[in-house]
Amino acid sequence: MVIKESILTNNPCYKQGRKINVKGLMLHSVGCAQPSASVFIKNWNKASYDKACVHGFIDGNDGTVYQTLPWDYRGWHAGGAANNTHIGVEMCEPGCIKYTGGATFICSDIPTAQIVATRTYTSAVELFAMLCQMFNLDPLADGVIISHNEGHKRGVASGHVDPEHLWRQLGLAYTMDSFRQDVNTILNANMAEASKQEKNYSRAVMNEAEIFAFLREQGLNDLGAAGLMGNLQAESGLSAINLQNSLNKSLNISDEDYTMLVDNSNYKDFITDKAGYGLAQWTYWSRKQALLEFAILKGTSIGDARMQCEFLMKELRENYPAVLTILKGATSVRQASDAVLLWFERPKDQSEKVQIKRAQYGEAIYKRCAGKEPVQIIQPVQESFRVKVSIPNLNIRKGPGTNFDRTGKCTGIGVFTIVEVKDGAGSAAGWGRLKSGAGWIALSYAERL
Ligand SMILES: [Zn+2]
Repeated sequence: MVIKESILTNNPCYKQGRKINVKGLMLHSVGCAQPSASVFIKNWNKASYDKACVHGFIDGNDGTVYQTLPWDYRGWHAGGAANNTHIGVEMCEPGCIKYTGGATFICSDIPTAQIVATRTYTSAVELFAMLCQMFNLDPLADGVIISHNEGHKRGVASGHVDPEHLWRQLGLAYTMDSFRQDVNTILNANMAEASKQEKNYSRAVMNEAEIFAFLREQGLNDLGAAGLMGNLQAESGLSAINLQNSLNKSLNISDEDYTMLVDNSNYKDFITDKAGYGLAQWTYWSRKQALLEFAILKGTSIGDARMQCEFLMKELRENYPAVLTILKGATSVRQASDAVLLWFERPKDQSEKVQIKRAQYGEAIYKRCAGKEPVQIIQPVQESFRVKVSIPNLNIRKGPGTNFDRTGKCTGIGVFTIVEVKDGAGSAAGWGRLKSGAGWIALSYAERL
């Protein structure tokens, strides 16, 4: 069913602007040989046309519904009290009939006329089902859906016999009872579809413990899961519908509404808006596109936490296997957190300060979710590196600083591997622990290779 809005704004009925509390729907047929709705609309949309006004016309040539009054306006269609309670809709009639007196007509082309009448009947059924849903009406309840003819018999409409006279004379089996039954069938189908869609778009919400459990099921160890989650905490506060704040502001939209618009395909810029969204604040267009496609595939809301967790794992597996390996075998929260920050999330600010903050989030999560104290508190993960010593008498000390005793040995000239760096007195570049286990040397006297 196609509905086009074509409000009769010049008609005095529209100008009166009276509203009704919609209790029912009245079906009419125009009572003349004119299949084109636009002819009626043109004639009725005049200040001088004060005889009638209806809520819609159904075109006989293509079945299009033209809405000609707001649905809750009081129309002039029934010629009786039904105007105060019922929406009125006119079906256009075949052009090949000819009225010979009253409601009696002859027809030059019965098959064509039957096709036109069937077309308008079908659109009317769909329109009435939609209106029943809109106004919460029961199509089978007494007096809700009535014809002009039935309205007359009930004393709420003038003495017309439409539209049953049309169906009967064209030899169609349609009756108002069949019409009500058909509306009811379509209404039930529409309601079932709507509730199915609602179910599809239900949105799983996961709390911290649930996300942690999910990641553990996926093979991350406690430290890895916590390190990853510290980053998610920093990105989104662990809210799967979180939209980057700057877009909340510029679009003047809440996280909920943004999510709903994307789910209903009413927001077309999801992929291209460059706004971080979801647990990991996916931002880059190709990642947002993949996220959207994944949500559609899974039949979930874009803001579904479980779907996003699954997508996150898919990304790690397919595009960031080295990060995933670290998360499965992490030996500290900081190690896991840094891997996610530097290789996966890659925000603009990746400074030491940010690294520590995220690792702290992760360590707090580790405490709460794994129930253990973090082994290594926010210690940076240091990779070993090599240094070149060019002086023969560089002392090796027992600790990082001139305040620690000398071991009595020197490195000699050569290249040495450093496995840990600490600040300490007597060396602005810090102190490096030798891989050999011999002790610490002042890095101010060594050249990093
Ligand atoms: Zn009528």
